[in-house]
Amino acid sequence: MNEPDISVVLPAHNEAGNITRMTATLERILKDQGRYEIVFVDDGSDDDTLSAIRDAAAGSSSVRYLSFTRNFGHQEALRAGLRHARGRAVIVMDADFEHPPELIPQLIAAWHDGAKVVATKREDGDASLPPMKSFTSKLYYKFLDAIGDVRIEPGSADFMLLDRNVVNTINNFADQDVFLRGTVRWFGYPTRTVTFSRGSRTYGKSKYTLKRMIDLAVTGIAAHSVQPLRLAIWLALAAAAIGFLLVVYSVVSFFFIESTVTGWTSLMATVAILGAAQLLVLGIIGEYVGRTLREARGRPTYVIAETETDLVSGEASAK
Ligand code: UDP
Repeated sequence: MNEPDISVVLPAHNEAGNITRMTATLERILKDQGRYEIVFVDDGSDDDTLSAIRDAAAGSSSVRYLSFTRNFGHQEALRAGLRHARGRAVIVMDADFEHPPELIPQLIAAWHDGAKVVATKREDGDASLPPMKSFTSKLYYKFLDAIGDVRIEPGSADFMLLDRNVVNTINNFADQDVFLRGTVRWFGYPTRTVTFSRGSRTYGKSKYTLKRMIDLAVTGIAAHSVQPLRLAIWLALAAAAIGFLLVVYSVVSFFFIESTVTGWTSLMATVAILGAAQLLVLGIIGEYVGRTLREARGRPTYVIAETETDLVSGEASAK
């Protein structure tokens, strides 16, 4: 079978109400862009997402899909979708209309123009993003830029076009942890960035709870920097410097001012601060050790229950 020019990969977790409309929208936009396929990745949805995807695949030969046994997370769904896609260029985007499908021709044009990666970023001052999310996201990318080995522009989204070479590089990447935005930047392929104004979801709600956002943020840092592990050294140097001054002060007071230092309060403060610093550093080390263990185990990071070939062979099971 001839490989398509363009694949569009869409992770979907509880997006039942978006699948039919998204398929129709993409087909309208992609019909002038050469051969294409639409690849949905059902990430363990517990609504009717999978049956909506099956219907879309039954109704159109350009819709393919895979479905996970349970929820493995957005980044894993992206990764599985990239492995399943066959296009010469692959576009990844949300299934919930927060990434405007109308931008796709612009991404493809930039690829025809030679870019291997066409990244996207939300317009500055995008009012559709809650101010707190916009602020913390900016702060996070600045922090990652300062300590990590990649520079990700604030407002970057997991909405991008990747050339087949880039997709193959990701597919051969052995890391268990992926932070697609960062990994792709880290490769260093020629990149073009297109700005967009974020669409609003018309169905369902964001699955990125605070905990998930923190998880993704920590993954991004752990995947691109070992600087946090050096925090212990900096804290130790600071503690040593302060300790030295305190010793000088105590000795001078004892011999020359002839009063011993009382200082229960300062003693307590020192113990508490040092205790907290030690626990913090231990926690950071624990985070990296845990990730190393996960890498060493090398477990699959997702499990596929079904793909479109099961639908053709009649093996797709009703949920
Ligand atoms: N998603 C997923 N698995 C998850 C959470 C989200 O596949 O565990 C999908 C979701 O259906 C959507 C995309 O990833 O297509 C982005 O998620 P969401 O819109 O919740 O994130 P937001 O853009 O609101 O931060």
